[in-house]
Amino acid sequence: MIPRDMAAPALQDPARAGAQTGAGPLAFASTRALEREEMLDAPLRWPAASRLRAPLRAPSKRAAGGLATLGLASVGDLLEHLPADSRAASTVAGLGRDEQATVSVEVRTISARPVRRRGMRPLVQATVFDATATMRATFFNQPWLVARYPPGTRLLLHGKADGRGGFRVSHHALAAEIGTDAQAPHEVAHYPASEGITSTQILALVAEARDALADVTEPLPGLMRAQERLPTRTDALTAMHFPREAEERADARERLAFDELLLAQLVFMRRRAAREELRGAPVLDEPAELTARWLEQELPFELTPDQRDAIALLGEELARERPMERLLMGEVGSGKTVVALYAMLRAVEHGRQAALMAPTETLAEQHFATIQRLLGSEPVALALLTGSTPAARRGDVLGKLASGELSLVVGTHALIEPDVAFADLAVAVIDEQHRFGVRQRAALQQRTPERPPHTLHMTATPIPRTLALARYGDLDTIALRERPAGRPPVETVLVGGEAARADAYQRLRAELARGRQAFVVCPLIEEAQEGEAGGVPEPGLRAATAELERLRGGELGGFELALLHGGMRARDKQQAMAAFAAGTAQVLVATTVIEVGIDVPNATVMLIENAERFGISQLHQLRGRVGRGGHRGVCFLAGPEGSAGSARLRALAENDDGFALAEVDLRLRKEGELLGTRQSGAAGELKVARLPDDEHLLARARSCAEGIVGADAGLRAPEHALLAEALHAAASEPIPG
Ligand code: ADP
Ligand code: MG
Repeated sequence: MIPRDMAAPALQDPARAGAQTGAGPLAFASTRALEREEMLDAPLRWPAASRLRAPLRAPSKRAAGGLATLGLASVGDLLEHLPADSRAASTVAGLGRDEQATVSVEVRTISARPVRRRGMRPLVQATVFDATATMRATFFNQPWLVARYPPGTRLLLHGKADGRGGFRVSHHALAAEIGTDAQAPHEVAHYPASEGITSTQILALVAEARDALADVTEPLPGLMRAQERLPTRTDALTAMHFPREAEERADARERLAFDELLLAQLVFMRRRAAREELRGAPVLDEPAELTARWLEQELPFELTPDQRDAIALLGEELARERPMERLLMGEVGSGKTVVALYAMLRAVEHGRQAALMAPTETLAEQHFATIQRLLGSEPVALALLTGSTPAARRGDVLGKLASGELSLVVGTHALIEPDVAFADLAVAVIDEQHRFGVRQRAALQQRTPERPPHTLHMTATPIPRTLALARYGDLDTIALRERPAGRPPVETVLVGGEAARADAYQRLRAELARGRQAFVVCPLIEEAQEGEAGGVPEPGLRAATAELERLRGGELGGFELALLHGGMRARDKQQAMAAFAAGTAQVLVATTVIEVGIDVPNATVMLIENAERFGISQLHQLRGRVGRGGHRGVCFLAGPEGSAGSARLRALAENDDGFALAEVDLRLRKEGELLGTRQSGAAGELKVARLPDDEHLLARARSCAEGIVGADAGLRAPEHALLAEALHAAASEPIPG
């Protein structure tokens, strides 16, 4: 039995919530996106041990809801639901005033206090003790505990000490259920809980299912486990749930993280091996007349060395029969379109077709315009196809795509409508590929299944190398790191106090006086509004509407100010943007809506309020909005007194390279400064492993996976049978989103 009525918030560790993760999601090769068809020819089927398959029985309806929310249906699911951390149980003598603690005690006396008022349920008071001292524990609203916890019962209590020998209990469980010894101090596992079920309740359920841990299969070949000095999976899971000491738990977590990383690497390597075998893509290997002429005569600038390298590499891959599948990473403005256009023109000069698909109409239109400009006087038939292409025009484009008359097309999802057919699609480019679903990307690639096109995926989100290896290990990537000549990095100044703030306004006004324009970015729209993360409104956060008024009557009095935020009506937003674009508004006071789509070359200054509340990559993106004309941009990152010491803000001031910043971001992410980092949504792909901390494990897992795939890619050897099973189970996981 498990105590009912444990409605208080569960024991959990908020720091864990955003512990791993990094740059934006790239679903098409992630661990979780293992496709169902990824079947292994596992030679044998072990009957899964029945104790693990047994359905989980919840102690109450409410708890059943909680278990369902956590996705826990079977005993096996429960045993794989790992605690977020464990904490040493406190001793009674060591409890401080107002300390939240877990203690392991024995009941000496227990009684209910009489009810005084109607509607009030009695308190239960118990005298409890451990080896160090005695205290008075108070339970609320659970009169039945008097009968349930008679003197002599050993209990695990969580709650708050008052420092005067009293203890308000928020969660409790029988020590016998947890399987702990009441005498000695020990570690207590804390689980990610959910509405309806607490960590202590989960621990009790795990304790009840403890015997089933013996049925957990060991996927690693014995030799590998010995060489890697890893505990068995059963031992590791046992130590996670019932740690005797923190160190044992750490070893256990490493073992489980190793499994997770190894399985992912196996999937990546097997998938890569399978892709190496693919054939049938158009071989684009004729001497390159059009592209050679275009590169020499039409391009109005010199290619950067990175662009040249990328073009050379793509040239080689397009000349193969194996379909290219490559990710081109480069920040906004790094010149990806030129590289993509090169690949597309290779198709055109072979008399074949190419298509570029972008996630929004605006982006598609921008690409269309850029490509037209970049093509110069080359007579290449090019069309734009989006949701707002008029029907007649659309019919014309579809006809010409089907006949092959049209060799280049730029568009949105409109390109993958069922009635769009290509005569001979040889190169597909997918921009901002993470904004498309797996199926949408495949839809473009599979227009001609018998003749798969070469595919270039593009992203403006730099992915740190460690993360790329762990989560997208099967991808070929290439990066454009340098920015094209002519655009100096944005000068970034940390403003961590009133004097610095005054200087910042001084410079801002000087720029305005010179005819330039400025952004002021605030984290909130209205002062009473909740924080972006949906929490309680916090004091000290600046709101755009109030800041506009404040600046008008203060530091920026006499200048033309306009307001822009997501809560405004579309017409008002457009008006504000138009005024800023035309220069009639000198300063745009805005929320982070300006991150996307605003391109005003005359804007040279940005002041970001509460910069400490934004993520590194978001700040980096934001500052990229200034200094886009010939004039150098300056970005002030304003925060509270002392914020200039923040490692994140300093990294921004010192670094202009998005790739370097992505690495820093990954390393600092543990600080838990998560507001505004939309990437945090990508967390959870790796459940146990934490990067970059587990980098060494990743390296070991990769080398083990290489060894296995090199020797036995099909996992047919008897010693790999259970590994094949584990891989199969991981690959059959439903694909999220
Ligand atoms: P991305 O797609 O990576 O955001 P684009 O390819 O649109 O970047 O390039 C951004 C701008 O820089 C475009 O106007 C483009 O013409 C220009 N550009 C690209 N490569 C170079 C280069 N090597 N030198 C100068 N300007 C370049
Ligand atoms: Mg672009």
